[in-house]
Amino acid sequence: MHHVTHFSLKNFNTFHIEAFADQFFRFNSAMELQKWLKSEESQEQHEFLVMGGGSNLLFTGDFYGTILHPAITGIEIIGEEGDEVLVRLGAGEEWDHCVAWAVENGLGGIENLSLIPGMAGAAPVQNIGAYGVELKDVFEYAEGLFLADGGFFRLYNHECNFDYRYSIFKGPLKYQTVITSVVLRLQKKPAFQLGYGTVSLAVEERGGVSLKNIRDAVVEIRASKLPDPDKLGNAGSFFKNPVIHVQEHRALLQKWPQIPGYPLPDGERIKVPAGWLIEQGGWKGLVRGRAGVHHNQALVLVNHGGATGSEVLALAQAIESDVWQKFGIRLEREVNVY
Ligand code: FAD
Ligand code: NAP
Repeated sequence: MHHVTHFSLKNFNTFHIEAFADQFFRFNSAMELQKWLKSEESQEQHEFLVMGGGSNLLFTGDFYGTILHPAITGIEIIGEEGDEVLVRLGAGEEWDHCVAWAVENGLGGIENLSLIPGMAGAAPVQNIGAYGVELKDVFEYAEGLFLADGGFFRLYNHECNFDYRYSIFKGPLKYQTVITSVVLRLQKKPAFQLGYGTVSLAVEERGGVSLKNIRDAVVEIRASKLPDPDKLGNAGSFFKNPVIHVQEHRALLQKWPQIPGYPLPDGERIKVPAGWLIEQGGWKGLVRGRAGVHHNQALVLVNHGGATGSEVLALAQAIESDVWQKFGIRLEREVNVY
């Protein structure tokens, strides 16, 4: 176990916000963490925060507690049932490395989730999603430990309350668990998801549907649209896309005939791209102090260099209030603010 005090988090969060943590623990196995959680030393700690790659976090000040960072690696096939394969990912594996591994091994299910930053252990927390696929579509179970007593848990898909950018780990179990491994059910004969026009077009250009072509298409589209956090600090979409009732959408169409909407399968609700709502207020590309709104995607807030978390948060709040006044829609934050 690697233990550091007064640890700078600047290169540990993709916003590159300067903040310090009292303590930082990196552990290599669930057993190592369990031993520590049961020790007297850990009982003296009060605040814990589990961090993977820091790509969905915003620090608005120092963290007066202990950061727990899983460095548990390993991608392992643990079972096969017909055309389905169970794969266990160590929580400290880079998520995109897991996607690349699956594609190289001819296993489908996560290729649309290519190039999402962060670690495998965080993937279930907000049920990562992109281009019509969510983690919940392939998730079998997660294993980990309770912070309070180091007790072991295994939670299956139906127990995780998965929803759009949500799970039990972001709800009732927030701050209570460390996920140490994630098991996925992948397919040898996958049903490809090509519902997003941009992806299917780029796949056709590559010569047709295959795991590799989908991965390459998604990587190319993302790299062309989204800021690279190594060059421009950001945490992806700052807000969730709001989901409103069909009647509400119809009423908004009277005033905003161009407002986009994607009907959900229940036929009663519509998902409205938050980026579009934000753009109507002229926020796209706007720079406010050292923080700003990305010029390609208004959903992404950026750090132009040296911004504090409070500056980014103030910008987010100004956007939230503008969208509320214009559309009567409350934007919900996707990024975890500390
Ligand atoms: P962190 O930011 O370190 O943590 C996120 C949350 O999960 C925190 O609350 C943390 O406490 C908790 N957590 C982390 N690890 C564990 C663990 N092992 N056990 C328990 N709790 C844990 N997200 C999408 O869904 N779709 C996208 O397409 C997408 N694109 C992105 C693009 C960019 C450029 C960026 C910067 C971000 C994007 N994101 C996207 C957001 C982010 O990549 C994901 O949410 C990712 O899963 C976060 O992983 P992480 O390891 O960085 O988590
Ligand atoms: P985009 O393609 O410009 O589309 C804008 C929004 O419209 C998306 O947020 C998407 O909702 C929705 N949408 C577009 N086509 C759709 C369809 N055919 N069916 C249903 N909904 C549709 O979005 P983008 O910003 O370039 O992102 C592309 C994908 O990557 C999206 O799935 C997005 O969620 C994901 N992404 C997520 C993050 C993050 O941090 N969470 C960051 C970057 C990209 P959905 O978001 O619900 O898919």
